[in-house]
Amino acid sequence: MRIGTIDDRPALISEHGYCDIATASGGGFPADPIGLLDRWAEFRAWVAEPAPRLDWAPYADGQVGPPVPRPRQVFALAVNYKDHAAEATAELPEYPIVFTKFPTCITGPYDDVLLPSNRADWEVELVVVIGHRAHRVPQAQAWQHVAGLTVGQDISERRVQFRKPGPHLAMAKSFPTFGPTGPWLVTPDEFANPDDLRLTCAINGEPMQDSRTSLLIFGVPALIESISAMVPLLPGDLIFTGTPAGVGSTRDPRRYLAPGDVITSEIEGIGVMRNACVEAR
Ligand code: ZN
Repeated sequence: MRIGTIDDRPALISEHGYCDIATASGGGFPADPIGLLDRWAEFRAWVAEPAPRLDWAPYADGQVGPPVPRPRQVFALAVNYKDHAAEATAELPEYPIVFTKFPTCITGPYDDVLLPSNRADWEVELVVVIGHRAHRVPQAQAWQHVAGLTVGQDISERRVQFRKPGPHLAMAKSFPTFGPTGPWLVTPDEFANPDDLRLTCAINGEPMQDSRTSLLIFGVPALIESISAMVPLLPGDLIFTGTPAGVGSTRDPRRYLAPGDVITSEIEGIGVMRNACVEAR
C-alpha cells in the first residue's frame, strides 16, 4: 500500500491516481496525517477487508506533500554506512550515533530546497515512518512498529555542522526545507526484502550516490531497538537512517549545492523525489 498527502490530506495512491482517505471513509478517518497514523491498525483493517469503495482522481506533482508533514519527533543517524565513514574519515561506531532534525525542516518531494549559504550538501537516505508506539522494542519485533518506508534527503549545512567546538548536527541539518521526504510511504509488505533496497542520488542528472540499505551498519531493526530503549517512538515519527558515500563535502574538489541545482533522490520500490535548489531570502 502507498500513502501520501495530496493537498495536505492523507491519500491512498495507485496507478489510477489518488483517493482522499477522509472522504472515502465518510469522515471515519481524519484528514490529518498524524491522526491517521495514530489509528494505523484500524486503518489497515479498513483498507483490507471488506475492501471499501474507492474513487480515484488524478493529481499533479504540486499537490504532493511529505507523507508526514508534521512529525512529533525526527531522528537521524550519523555515520551509518562504512563507505561514508571512510570518506568522512570517521571511526566505525560501536552504537548508533543519533541526532535530531527539528520537524520544521520537513518539506515535500517536489518542493524547493532553500540554500542559506554556499555550504549546503546532499545526503540521500532511507526514512522509516513509525506506525505503532515503540518503547523498549527488541529487534525481532521492530518491523511490526513500522508503518512504512519513504525517501529522504538529510540536507546539511557543513559550515555550521563543523563549527568549533561542535558538532552542531541538529542545527546544521534543520534549516527550513532541509528535510525533503516522499513521494510516498510504502508499507513493508510491498518489498521482497525491506532490509535491502537500492538508493541513489544525482545532482543535475550526474550520479553522486549509489548504494544499498543492506550495507547499513545499523539496520532498521537495530535502530528501532536502540532508539526505543531510551526514547519512545510515536506514530508518524521519522528515522533518517544515514547516508552512503558520495556526499559533496568529501569529494575532490569539494562540491556544494548551488541555486539552480536539481537533486534527484530515488529508492527502489518507493519512488523518486526531485528538489530544485534556490537561494533562501
Ligand atoms: Zn544524514
